[in-house]
Amino acid sequence: AICLFAIWRFIRPLHHLAVALKKYPEDKSVLKIQSSGNDEIAIVTDVTKSMLMQVEELTKKLKHQATTDFLTGLANRRWLTEQVPGLQSQAERANEPLSVILFDLDNFKHINDDYGHDVGDNVLMIVGEVVKDSLRPYDLAARIGGEEFCIVLPRTSGESALKIAERLRAAFQASYVEPLPHGRITCSFGVVQAGPGERLQQLLRRADTALYRAKDAGRNRVIGAFVEK
Ligand code: GH3
Ligand code: MG
Ligand code: MG
Repeated sequence: AICLFAIWRFIRPLHHLAVALKKYPEDKSVLKIQSSGNDEIAIVTDVTKSMLMQVEELTKKLKHQATTDFLTGLANRRWLTEQVPGLQSQAERANEPLSVILFDLDNFKHINDDYGHDVGDNVLMIVGEVVKDSLRPYDLAARIGGEEFCIVLPRTSGESALKIAERLRAAFQASYVEPLPHGRITCSFGVVQAGPGERLQQLLRRADTALYRAKDAGRNRVIGAFVEK
């Protein structure tokens, strides 16, 4: 009996580790196992934990890189595409509106041509900062093209989205990047409210049409495109 007890005492930590490892995909409790002593089982436990922690860190970093735009720190197109259907069904279930603002920097190519690509990059970064400072925690902002951005606003009617876009428009115009003249950073905006069951692609197409009307009308302005209810 003493022998069996000694074996059980020795084997028990290995059993704990095996059970926790089996559950690892659903539950991270293996990372909290405390090893005691410095026998082989304690070493295996510590090394396993440390390797899994590295995997966790790396996965987090890769997920962030895969969904974030490096230059502006906003989300990228992939993240937007993944998130919007969920936000839309949530809005529909709660019977709440959801709106989209699409905007594009005005005459941005000239900024690159006249002042250099680095200044252009600084403009994109300032745009990212202004957007981050202006939104609520549950809004989603993404850089979806070179100098084109999309903001998804849950719980927001088209009318409110127009006001938010107008505030952003003014904030961009008031922002400053050296050595550009004051007021040189401007954007044109297209604003839409999602219709029932409307797919992201269609929503963006409608917003794009409004955005191009804003460009045609002289840039640095907001235009809404709303479907009849
Ligand atoms: P419009 O007002 O009609 O939108 O004119 P635009 O000049 O802004 O548009 P156009 O499509 O002619 O040019 C977009 C420019 O954006 C061209 C491209 O070099 C620049 N661009 C795209 N991505 C980046 C980037 O990451 N950094 C910099 N500096 N420039 C970029
Ligand atoms: Mg542009
Ligand atoms: Mg563009």
